[in-house]
Amino acid sequence: MNTPTATATTTLVTAPSSEAVNPPRAHLIDGKAASTRLLEEVTAGVAELATRGVTPGLAVVLIGEDPASQVYVRNKLKRTVECGMHSFEHRLTDDTSEAELLALVASLNADPAVHGILVQLPLPEHIQEDAVLEAIDPRKDVDGFHRMNVGALIQGADALAPCTPTGCMRLLRDTFVEQGGDLSGLHAVVIGRSNIVGKPMASLLLAANCSVTQLHSRSRNPAELCRQADIVVAAVGRPNMITAEWIKPGAVVIDVGINRIEQSAEDSPTGQARTRLVGDVDFTSVASVASAITPVPGGVGPMTIACLLANTLTAALRQSS
Ligand code: NDP
Repeated sequence: MNTPTATATTTLVTAPSSEAVNPPRAHLIDGKAASTRLLEEVTAGVAELATRGVTPGLAVVLIGEDPASQVYVRNKLKRTVECGMHSFEHRLTDDTSEAELLALVASLNADPAVHGILVQLPLPEHIQEDAVLEAIDPRKDVDGFHRMNVGALIQGADALAPCTPTGCMRLLRDTFVEQGGDLSGLHAVVIGRSNIVGKPMASLLLAANCSVTQLHSRSRNPAELCRQADIVVAAVGRPNMITAEWIKPGAVVIDVGINRIEQSAEDSPTGQARTRLVGDVDFTSVASVASAITPVPGGVGPMTIACLLANTLTAALRQSS
C-alpha cells in the first residue's frame, strides 16, 4: 500500500516504556489541529459571504435534558458564533409533542435567516425520528440525514453529507497528503453500518475510489477481513474492540467510537475512580502496528462540529446564489 507520510497534522506517538519490545510506531492524526484549520476556512468563507449581505444562520433544536446532548449543543452554538454565523437555539421540554416539533421545523424551513437546521438526536420515544428528519428542508439539512441527501450521496451527486464521515474523509486525505490526498485503489474496511456513520462513510470512501468492505454485527471472521485493509474506520460503539490482531501492519486507522468506561482507583492516574473516554480501537496495541491513528478524544470528535459549520456555510452559499 501507499504508506502515508506524516503531515503537519501528525506527530509521533511516544512509546510507553512497557512497550519496548513492540513499540508504538503510528503517527497520531491530530483532529484538533485539522478542525482548527477547517474552522479558519469556514470563518473566511463566512466573511466573504457577509460582503454580499448574507450571514449564515444555524438553528439547533434540543429536546429534553440529556446531559451529553446539552454539552454537544453548547459546543456547537459556541463554535457557530466564533465563525461569525448567526446561531438560533430552541430548547424544548421532554413532553413536547411531535406536532409541536414539526411546527417548529416548518417555521425554521420558512425562515430566510436560517440556512441550516439541526435537530439533536436522540429524540424522546414518543417522537418519530424519521418524521422529523424528513420534515427538514433538504437544502437546510446540514446533518445530511434527509433521504434526498442520503440518496444524492449514494449516487455521487451534490449532497450535504453527514458530518462525522465527512470529517473522517478529511483526516484521511490529510494523512495521504503525499499522494495528493488520493485514496484510489486502497482497500477500506468500515466497521459498523449505521445511517449516521457507517453507511455514509462507505459511500464517501467508494466515491473516493476505494475498494470498500463493510462489517457489522453479523459479519463472519471480521478480524480476518479487517486485516486486509489499508484503511480501517471503526464506528461500532464497543470500547477497545479492535485490537492489533485486526490490523495489517502500516494500515491507517480512524476511530469514530466514543465510549465512556469506568476506571478503578488503581488504574487511574489521579488515584481516584473515574469515567474516561475510549474509542472502539484498543489504542496502545493498534498504534504498535498501524502507520497512523486517530486518538480518542481529540481525533474524529472535533472534526464533526467543524464539518457541521462547513455544511452550514455550503447551505448558505447555495441558498443565496
Ligand atoms: P450504532 O449503534 O448506530 O451502530 C453500531 C454499528 O456497529 C452497527 O452497524 C452494528 O452492527 C455494528 N456492530 C455492533 N457490534 C459489532 C461487532 N461485534 N462487530 C462488528 N460490528 C458491530 O452506532 P453509531 O454508528 O451511531 O456510532 C458508533 C460509535 O461512534 C459510537 O461509539 C458513537 O458514540 C460514536 N460516534 C462518534 C461521533 C463523533 O463525532 N466522534 C459521532 C457519531 C457517533 P448491526 O448493524 O449489525 O447492528
